[in-house]
Amino acid sequence: MIYLDYSSTTPVDKRLLEYFSIVNRKFYGNPNSNHQLGIEAAYEIEKATLSIKKSLGLNNEEVIYTSGATEANNLGIIGYALQNSEHGKHLIVSPYEHSSVVSCFNHLEKLGFEVDVLPAHIDGLILLEDLKGKIRKDTILVSISMINSETGIAQAIDDIGKFLKEYPQIAFHVDLTQAIGKIRIDVANIDLFSMAAHKFYGIKGIGALVKKPEIMIVPMIHGGKSTTKYRSGTPATGLILSLAKSLEFAYEDFDQRYNHVLKLKNYLVNELTHFPNIVINSNQYSIPHILNISNLTIESKDIVERLGKQQIYVSAQTACSSDSGYSHMIYRITKDEQRAKTSFRVSLSYKTSLAEVIQFVECLKNEY
Ligand code: PLP
Repeated sequence: MIYLDYSSTTPVDKRLLEYFSIVNRKFYGNPNSNHQLGIEAAYEIEKATLSIKKSLGLNNEEVIYTSGATEANNLGIIGYALQNSEHGKHLIVSPYEHSSVVSCFNHLEKLGFEVDVLPAHIDGLILLEDLKGKIRKDTILVSISMINSETGIAQAIDDIGKFLKEYPQIAFHVDLTQAIGKIRIDVANIDLFSMAAHKFYGIKGIGALVKKPEIMIVPMIHGGKSTTKYRSGTPATGLILSLAKSLEFAYEDFDQRYNHVLKLKNYLVNELTHFPNIVINSNQYSIPHILNISNLTIESKDIVERLGKQQIYVSAQTACSSDSGYSHMIYRITKDEQRAKTSFRVSLSYKTSLAEVIQFVECLKNEY
């Protein structure tokens, strides 16, 4: 089996499973309880939060634990818009977003908000002048993901964040789901961001929305006060502790892992140049972990199926997008329907070996 779908999800780090098992047995008290076991569990969560802040270079930001990035995006985007609607009802979103962001804006439109989608460009990047052109007096939120999950194209989030500082009435939300653990990120100019542990070898079912303390949101899940007032329910101590640990692990041997992935990607790109019907949709702004390819003669779902029969696992569009068989993202950056219909994503990891990539290329030759 060759797994080349690390951007959909990652296999959990075995050390985390052991850790998860230990902390679940040890800190089973409800962190909201006032007795010794509860206080101990709450203290462990506090330590985990400090560790997350250290890993991500945070200061006084608040970490709101969620089930994953979809929930974090919903809480950040809808929670912020609903809380701040008296200051304005105009929202701006990039054209390169994951369905969990797009759906929030569609929902807000139905609630009476006005949503402007920034124009898409062939290089997949957001232009500051486009953003400037869309900002109005009643704009309250801009949402732009850092890494597009299909193409790996990375936005200059820090520059956009700095630019938005000129507009103090606007909050800047960034979906960092595909960025965390893969690249180093400066979050200083971001007001709210989302992440999920399962994208960086953590356990599924835990993620977070991180927000600056002055950013006000309404909760999506109502109930009593928990670790924060923004998300009720008994805190999942073991999952929260595992999130902190997975972040520590994610930035271990960072440069070595990054360079390994880069070498694999360069090797793969070079090999693919020998296939006349293969074009690469990722570009110079893409991180090396994600390579989007079109094999112009085979539709996306067919190539995924054919490779799957040989136990090589890649993705068509993203696992969460519609099964229309057509990638809107690839169409937006190529304006080519055939490329959009035949695109698929290979996502690489520090765990991927050169032998696996060589075998993948061989199998592509057979499918060609
Ligand atoms: N945002 C991006 C960019 C993603 O790639 C994904 C998952 O593929 C999500 C959000 C949703 O994450 P989750 O599966 O944790 O809800």
